[in-house]
Amino acid sequence: LPGDQSGSPHSRQTPDVCWAAVNPTPTAQPVLLAYSNAAACLLNLSHEDVHSAEFLQAFSGNQLLPGMRPFAACYGGHQFGHWAGQLGDGRAISLGEVINLQGERWELQLKGAGMTPYSRRADGRAVLRSSLREFLCSEAMHHLGIPTTRALSLIGTGDDVMRDMFYDGHPNDEPGAIVCRIAPSFIRFGNFELLAARGEHELLRRLVDFTIDRDFQEISKEPDDYLSDWFSLVCERTAKLVVEWLRVGFVHGVMNTDNMSILGLTLDYGPYGWIDNFDPGWTPNTTDSEWRRYCLSQQPPVARWNLERLADALSTIKGARSLRERGLKHFDATLQTSMTSMLAGKFGWLVWCDTDAELVETIFDLMQTAQVDMTQFFRALANIEQEAPDLAVLRSAFYQEALYHNHSTLFNDWLQRYAARLCLQQESDDTRRKRMNLVNPRFILRNYLAQQAIEAAMQNDMSFLERLMQAGQRPYDEEIDADLVALRPDWALNKPGCSMLSCSS
Ligand code: AMP
Ligand code: MG
Ligand code: MG
Repeated sequence: LPGDQSGSPHSRQTPDVCWAAVNPTPTAQPVLLAYSNAAACLLNLSHEDVHSAEFLQAFSGNQLLPGMRPFAACYGGHQFGHWAGQLGDGRAISLGEVINLQGERWELQLKGAGMTPYSRRADGRAVLRSSLREFLCSEAMHHLGIPTTRALSLIGTGDDVMRDMFYDGHPNDEPGAIVCRIAPSFIRFGNFELLAARGEHELLRRLVDFTIDRDFQEISKEPDDYLSDWFSLVCERTAKLVVEWLRVGFVHGVMNTDNMSILGLTLDYGPYGWIDNFDPGWTPNTTDSEWRRYCLSQQPPVARWNLERLADALSTIKGARSLRERGLKHFDATLQTSMTSMLAGKFGWLVWCDTDAELVETIFDLMQTAQVDMTQFFRALANIEQEAPDLAVLRSAFYQEALYHNHSTLFNDWLQRYAARLCLQQESDDTRRKRMNLVNPRFILRNYLAQQAIEAAMQNDMSFLERLMQAGQRPYDEEIDADLVALRPDWALNKPGCSMLSCSS
């Protein structure tokens, strides 16, 4: 695919290309703060490799390894419902691809490695707090079994970065950091949208073919309407992804089309968050607190809206037929079946019956009114005995004693009906509990936990980050330290960084 080869980092429009060559900007005093052993294994890197001087120089952007040809990708996007024009990798620089011993191809990308032609008026850098959040959550998401870009390393740059919002609301110097992310591809819906918006139809066609050839082996280009086959697959993966987010109570926070992976991966961890007390309208993103466009429950319809924008772009390709109708229909069908099987799994039902919808709606309403913790609730629910349901088993999921007591009759009514539903299955409590505990995580990366890791890291103490990484590797396990799986403490409710977040990163 054509690129702008000039290598100049000055901000500009780059028509007629898909990428621009640009080198990372060297950093003052890089320090390896953390790395993911699981991600290192994907690249066949040993503990010694990761701790070598060569690694530190390469993944801090200070030195290129032989064969690396760094570039920033050119893309556009719809942000909060509006076309934003050219955006591009403003602070992400891909170093190249590696093929591992298993024959898998991984693209290596530094985030926060300096200016690119797409930096616009920003600095191309990332602060430690946001890099640490991306690093931790990428790997936690993977271990939850959810498609995501991965994170190899977190490197402190030794340089200060100025951000306009931090704790006291005044500009502050913050420590900078660089995450090395890895994925088969970082291509976004926005890469296709920008080419269509610019009328670069031939290039758009080439980008589509490139993507299918490289990343979608399952799509055959024999049929006339292979574009439609491919778009349907993108719709399917996107539907499955948002259902997985709902399963674990993850809110991405900024589902702009430039943050939507064409592979259906969770991409661009910014002001994301995890549901504590169940609330479908909750969003972690302070920029979105009025419209709540990207709140928990809006994620499926927003994913669909984003796919419509992708369909708009793809439909400009000559010969693209009926791609929109077919793809979106497939999205709706996939969403429906994935959602019901996800819910059946969470509640411990072997199959979904249409009458289950009422049980789900009732308990979700109650959980919201009574401020019940979503994660704790489903782990506790697994311990209910079908022959002798006891509401006290669910007590640990309530934030407030008073709300527990005030709603106990309604919860009890529901619990009786739930237990009766379980009895129909003729499955032992023990077997059901084991099944439920495989889909209902015990550990999630609650915002206040990540914030504690950030505050310790700012004092050069990486031990809490290390503990969160360990817990994140086995999120369904019973054996995780109690302080990491507890209810969000009250003090975290209004503390900056512990609940809602700004986009400043
Ligand atoms: P985001 O909201 O993080 O997905 O970013 C939206 C756009 O802004 C993307 O094109 C980013 O590359 C760009 N961007 C965000 N932060 C920076 C930064 N500090 N320097 C340069 N570009 C940035
Ligand atoms: Mg982004
Ligand atoms: Mg971002």
